[in-house]
Amino acid sequence: MNAVWKILTLPCEEASRIMSDGMDRALTNVERIALRAHLISCRSCKRFRKQLFVIEAAAKAAADEKMPEDSRERIRANIDDERS
Ligand SMILES: [Zn+2]
Repeated sequence: MNAVWKILTLPCEEASRIMSDGMDRALTNVERIALRAHLISCRSCKRFRKQLFVIEAAAKAAADEKMPEDSRERIRANIDDERS
């Protein structure tokens, strides 16, 4: 697929796949630019990205049994923000 075309027409499902992949590997330049361009205009993908960060933080926190109470509060507050 033509890179410029991909950047301009990235569908939401592709954007969310790239964001998920970005948690596990470095993204290509085309992926990064396409995602950035998409996030400028797409609120639902922006929200999805925020949730990914919350989930990642929660997973890291869960792996650490000695998570301090203030981290727990922050994660809870983030999740509440998303729901409101
Ligand atoms: Zn989108």
